[in-house]
Amino acid sequence: MRIATQTETINLYDLTRPQLETLLAGWGFSIYHADRVWAYLYQQQLQSLAEMKGLRPDLRQQLEAAAVLAPLATVAAIDSSDGYTRKFLLGLPDGQSVETVLMRFEGRDDGEGRATACVSTQVGCAMGCVFCATGQMGFLRHLTPGEIVAQVVYVDRLLRQQGENLRNVVLMGMGEPLHNYDATMAAVDIMTDHKGLALAPRHITLSTVGVVPGIRRLADEERPIHLAVSLHGATDAERQALVPPARRWPLNELMAACRYYLEKRNRRIFFEWTLIEGKNDTPAQAHSLGRLLQGLDAHVNLIPLNPTAGYDGRPTRSAAVTQFQSILAEYGIPSTVRQRRGIDIAAGCGQLRADKTRLHVDSPTS
Ligand code: SAH
Ligand code: SF4
Repeated sequence: MRIATQTETINLYDLTRPQLETLLAGWGFSIYHADRVWAYLYQQQLQSLAEMKGLRPDLRQQLEAAAVLAPLATVAAIDSSDGYTRKFLLGLPDGQSVETVLMRFEGRDDGEGRATACVSTQVGCAMGCVFCATGQMGFLRHLTPGEIVAQVVYVDRLLRQQGENLRNVVLMGMGEPLHNYDATMAAVDIMTDHKGLALAPRHITLSTVGVVPGIRRLADEERPIHLAVSLHGATDAERQALVPPARRWPLNELMAACRYYLEKRNRRIFFEWTLIEGKNDTPAQAHSLGRLLQGLDAHVNLIPLNPTAGYDGRPTRSAAVTQFQSILAEYGIPSTVRQRRGIDIAAGCGQLRADKTRLHVDSPTS
């Protein structure tokens, strides 16, 4: 694995703990020192090397010469009128930016409110789903592990200042995480490291458009995070009309990969279905989804379409959503309707695109 060269500056957030240990060992420092640096990064969440005052001066010099600590800059922040959602446009070192969303949910059975960060894995997206603002902007580049981790640190720091902690991460922001597999998984390893951010893997959910090789790889690896698969159509023709990568990975291959995942991991899969009026919300389509998933350990998340500039469909009305759910129930498939969050600030599912102008223009609170 590539962690350093003579000429490259290392972003410390890019490194897993074993990689940090190797780097420091190469300079003659023991694991004890690596643990100190790690704690500064993820427990104390310091924002510059200069703040790491407890390090041996020679180690700090080495770090300053070879590495950077690159927290993300706030380009803009905006609150939703729903009172639960805050969206951030965060600047990357090369001048690009991504959106990250902080959501709060209440009323859990265990009485605990839970803060959730919706994190991006790419600038833009190559998959081109017609109803998604990120897809509409095209693909600019992958994020590095450190740029994914830095979004999590950003949100966690903010919460800590308010006496809270980040509990959940959903890899459902801009981009297709399984198209950026290695960086995404390195980021997951960093955020779940027990000496650092220590997020529980079961509190991390990765959503994919259905990248079959990635699902199979995830099934083969020991990373007990949750998997969500975006379906939106239960026949190839209907799915392809909404989700272009469905041409590359037809439903039979996708469902075979999902069955493989269920066998290997024995963990329920969430299937996402954006409900678009007149497109994929009829009783017949609910039956065909029910038949597709029958017998699988599956849960369906229904997401009434959120508005985006490049697609003029409408969300399914609530009576039809309820009917859709009751048909799925006939097949033994549980479902929930995703709570609508941050729609007024374009922070809902599929509304994210890194666009500074739009963020300011749309702002109801600034
Ligand atoms: N690339 C991943 C994760 C990001 S999108 C994926 O596609 O799964 C997260 C979810 O939002 C996906 O299920 C996606 O299909 C859905 N989505 C995209 N655009 C939407 C929109 N305009 N309204 C509602 N859901 C949308
Ligand atoms: Fe990419 Fe997901 Fe949007 Fe499709 S829905 S364009 S895969 S981010």
